[in-house]
Amino acid sequence: MDSSPTKYVYCNDLPSVAYATRILALSPVLIIDCEGRNIGGLDGALSLMCIGTEKAEYIFVFDVLALKPFKFRLMPLFCVLANSAVKKVMWDCRNDFLEILSEYNVMLTSILDLQLAEIQARTAVNKEKDFQRIQRFSWGSRAVPLRTIKQNQELFLGVHRLQGMDACIRKANLPTTGKDPQVVAMHKAVGSAIWLDRPLPPNLLAYAAHDIEMIAMLYEHFKTNSWITSANELLLVAQSMRYAYSLFYQGRVADNDVFGPCAVLPLDVLSESRGPHFQCHGCHRMQSLSCYSVRKQGKKPQARSNICRTCQIKALLKETKYPIIWVAV
Ligand SMILES: [Zn+2]
Repeated sequence: MDSSPTKYVYCNDLPSVAYATRILALSPVLIIDCEGRNIGGLDGALSLMCIGTEKAEYIFVFDVLALKPFKFRLMPLFCVLANSAVKKVMWDCRNDFLEILSEYNVMLTSILDLQLAEIQARTAVNKEKDFQRIQRFSWGSRAVPLRTIKQNQELFLGVHRLQGMDACIRKANLPTTGKDPQVVAMHKAVGSAIWLDRPLPPNLLAYAAHDIEMIAMLYEHFKTNSWITSANELLLVAQSMRYAYSLFYQGRVADNDVFGPCAVLPLDVLSESRGPHFQCHGCHRMQSLSCYSVRKQGKKPQARSNICRTCQIKALLKETKYPIIWVAV
């Protein structure tokens, strides 16, 4: 188990940013992860943008607050982030993608999201059967009884449960300490606003940098185990970009929003949808008809549910009643 302290460069002025940009611009693969207050939430604010080289040989921790006065001089770094020839490896990119867009008006390109690679590997490599996909909804927090799932098979069709990074590291038996339990406990006790404190305590900076190390380790592990190969990488990038944009129309949500964060993979991410798209009244995302509950007459669809199946499942997991209204199609 590697418990040596994570080495990183703290970038809070222009010379350190220039140094970081020179190194990062030479790396064809970047590992990216952000920290902040309630990221993706109504009062979301970025604190740190952490970027590492492919194997985390270098880790740069950009202090978003300290760099605010120099925002317009960070253009060379933004060019690296927007360069589609540079792969950005992330774990659940959705909120970081939106926060970086909101703070810097920069759209990350060529994202490879390891959370999606893990889902793909369940069937492609580990040969999981469909009942195992369903079973995942009946475990852990916000579980649904298997009986309920079986009674709503059409609702759960093709829907996947997400797995967190820590769980993935544990299952992979990677020789690394997971997230610092002290910081995790602090998070729980006082909330994520601690990320906006300055100066940031060294253990928070180390925690942020260690996430980059863990994502880099997972990336290596996924490649070694053929979860990511030259054959599926392009598809994974296309899926990851759909994943990144999946919260685009919903934007920031209140903590108690029933359609807010929940460990369910949105539909129309793993596969590209064809035909007309309809807006969900829950997540506001435009999705194909297959993402909704559909009433048919014969084979012809007559009406769809006002909220997509993912949103219906979120309501179910959160034990919240939400009226389904049928909309003619
Ligand atoms: Zn929805």
